[in-house]
Amino acid sequence: MAEILKAVKGMNDILPPESARWEWLEDVVRKLMRRYGYQNVRVPIVEPTALFVRGLGEVTDIVEKEMYSFEDSLNGDKLTLRPEGTAGVVRAMNEHSFLYEGGKRLFYIGPMFRHERPQKGRYRQFHQVGAEVLGFAGPDVDAELILMTAALWRDLGLAIGSDVSLQINSLGQPEERKAHREALIAHLEAHIDLLDDEAKRRLHSNPLRILDTKNPAMQAVVEAAPRLIDFLGEASLAHFNAVKAVLDAAGVPYQVNTRLVRGMDYYNLTVFEWVTARLGAQGTVCGGGRYDGLIEQLGGKPAPAVGWGLGMERLLLLLEEVGVAAPSTAPDAFAVVFAGTPLPTVLTTIEALRAQGVQVVLNPAGKEGPASPKSQFKKADASGARFALVFGPDEVAQGQVAVKPLLERGEQVLRPLADATAWASTLQAPQTV
Ligand code: ATP
Ligand code: MG
Repeated sequence: MAEILKAVKGMNDILPPESARWEWLEDVVRKLMRRYGYQNVRVPIVEPTALFVRGLGEVTDIVEKEMYSFEDSLNGDKLTLRPEGTAGVVRAMNEHSFLYEGGKRLFYIGPMFRHERPQKGRYRQFHQVGAEVLGFAGPDVDAELILMTAALWRDLGLAIGSDVSLQINSLGQPEERKAHREALIAHLEAHIDLLDDEAKRRLHSNPLRILDTKNPAMQAVVEAAPRLIDFLGEASLAHFNAVKAVLDAAGVPYQVNTRLVRGMDYYNLTVFEWVTARLGAQGTVCGGGRYDGLIEQLGGKPAPAVGWGLGMERLLLLLEEVGVAAPSTAPDAFAVVFAGTPLPTVLTTIEALRAQGVQVVLNPAGKEGPASPKSQFKKADASGARFALVFGPDEVAQGQVAVKPLLERGEQVLRPLADATAWASTLQAPQTV
């Protein structure tokens, strides 16, 4: 026998029944986006490598070591599987002059690729939902984006405060960051003997990222470091305070984490993360912030922007951990077909029901004809269907089908085959939403 081929390490198949949870999450996300007036964008998975190098920053983890980059074998173009969604969305906006008539609220759902060590909650192909607001500078949209994530947790049945908690910070403006950066480098240089190799390497390239270290030996030095928030001017502080005031008024609890920095260079002013203690080291479920410089940096007409991205695998792991179940995807009815029943009768009847929106599963017959009624009823039970539609020879001869309740007690009833549209709704569960 030929060897079974396997998927690439760190890239997962999403199969039933797990895929039903994904579809449910995507449905909840799409409804949320419609409530807030965000429109869907779909941009390519492969982009020019330069987009991410220029967009995310050359000394970020992603660009330094996590990108799947390759050369197009036909023309030598340098290409990369997108490691995140924002740069591609901004590229598309610039390319199509999409902000010409005013700002936009957008969202995307799709796979991202990073060459990391695969582990629980960390994969090489993973999926993000992202929301981006382009063209608006005010703190109202920062606040809206955060409120929207809080609404998503509520929609999904996650408790804010215990399942997920919000950390926010302000990174100020480039000049403020520059002044802080100089003070920070001076502080770190004064304690150079306490820094690990990674920190030493980043001392001049990306000192802010050193504050994010998980190395316990460096905690003291990091805690004593000058805080960026103390370098913020009036306008930056006012922006930050306006965002916090909305969160306070809306009753969304948060913690100001003055050491919160994000992995990409493009952020300024508001940054935030939703973290959970329930997933071990992979605790960040969602992160975002303002990136007012990125559109211009990628060649567009200067315009402010803000957004977030969430990891769908981590969110689904968290939902599982907390015990949130997706709504059932069991069919309304399962057709049990006896040998000798004319197929056209069976199929036209269930088609008429499906046309009315009833979910009907047909048990396929093999080459030998239908399986025994007993084995079909077993499958009907296993499917979770509310009803079995029993196409037996006697019933069908009288122009009828037997409808047998599987989940609740109750008598089997006979329904006319010719008039399935009239009784279709009796098979459907009462609408809950
Ligand atoms: P981390 O610090 O965990 O590496 P990050 O800062 O690199 O996260 P972002 O680039 O902000 O993450 O991406 C947004 C979200 O996407 C993360 O909060 C996380 O939920 C998810 N995510 C990032 N990388 C991965 C991955 N390799 N596998 C699964 N989910 C991921
Ligand atoms: Mg990362």
